[in-house]
Amino acid sequence: MGGCRICTNAPSVTHLLFADDSFLFFKATSNEALTIKCVLNTYKSWSGQPVNYQKSAIFFSYNVRMDKQQEIKQVLEVSNDIGDSKYLGLPSLIGRLKKLVFKYLKEKVIQRIKGWSTKLMSRAGKLVLLKNVVPLIPAYAMSCFLLPKTLGQEIQSIMNAFWLRSLDDFCVNSIITSDLAKQSKAREFFKENRREWDVEKVNLHFSSEDAATIVNTRILQGCTSDMISWVHTSNGQYTVKSTYFQWSKSQSTGEGTSISVGLKRLWRLPIPHKIRVFLWRLCRNTISVRNRLREKGVPVTISCPMCVGEVEHLRHIFFECSFSKECWQLVGMNFEAHDMEYVSEWLVSFLASGPLHDLVTMPAVLWGIWYARNKCVFDNKTMSPGIVKS
Ligand SMILES: [Zn+2]
Repeated sequence: MGGCRICTNAPSVTHLLFADDSFLFFKATSNEALTIKCVLNTYKSWSGQPVNYQKSAIFFSYNVRMDKQQEIKQVLEVSNDIGDSKYLGLPSLIGRLKKLVFKYLKEKVIQRIKGWSTKLMSRAGKLVLLKNVVPLIPAYAMSCFLLPKTLGQEIQSIMNAFWLRSLDDFCVNSIITSDLAKQSKAREFFKENRREWDVEKVNLHFSSEDAATIVNTRILQGCTSDMISWVHTSNGQYTVKSTYFQWSKSQSTGEGTSISVGLKRLWRLPIPHKIRVFLWRLCRNTISVRNRLREKGVPVTISCPMCVGEVEHLRHIFFECSFSKECWQLVGMNFEAHDMEYVSEWLVSFLASGPLHDLVTMPAVLWGIWYARNKCVFDNKTMSPGIVKS
């Protein structure tokens, strides 16, 4: 019997016996196939246990010719191939294209996520699903096989997309924006017959952030046609090197790092989950205060609902408003509002460097203020600043 070696000097393996499955290895010749058949028949007559050839499957290495394969199949009376079949829920054959073999895991994740109705789910609920359900899908396969790194990254990006918005929205949205970007020519956003930005038109078609960047872009007077240009090289041609250079520069100046330190600390704070998620949204600047809604084109009044007078923006509602000032006073904390140009940035750096004691109280107060504000807006109820104490 030939058996099977995994490399030149390794011992030759002729059989592997699992609980109730057996693997037999032999050379692809009719002679060896006949010997196997003979052995199995002897086994049957001695033990009274016949082999079910219909349920058995066979695998040939790639250099065995088709006619040879048919011949051996006929001798053994086995017709099934071990191809894409699964054994105990895992792929039974893993070749070099691991990514292809384990693609089914990625599809399972997508299916599972699509099944969740995201509109009815709170952010904390979404997070629990993402953290506790999705990782279980590849866990079983991971306990047996080393999965390709890229697969993990792909699953991660599917999870990110779900976290940011529902999967469908995400795809549609990014396609639309990229299409818009491709199709629109700068000239279409000029004032008629002039080389000057039509600010209203730009605002209409782009998010406030992008629009600001666009209108601040200087228009060259002599240039006639549009072209795509990469900002980090002098000739405008894209290179991976320039991207890497830019990235490592941002790393060394600490731009990326203090953000990640702050956010890492945020997820470890001993505070309720909903408050953690709320704080994360504050850091990410995605809390829907009125001036933000206005920027997005939602027709709402812009004044603060708590003091009815000032414009409601992040810094106002959480730090400058008379209501929030009273809240901070009650817990004995005091923040200089004029220190913070952007609340989200200030918050991230505070999270990174603030004392732990403050990091438990402050989120609770911020959340209390937002809770009272929402009660006022949506339920028309007035809360006292004492809410932050409870
Ligand atoms: Zn106010």
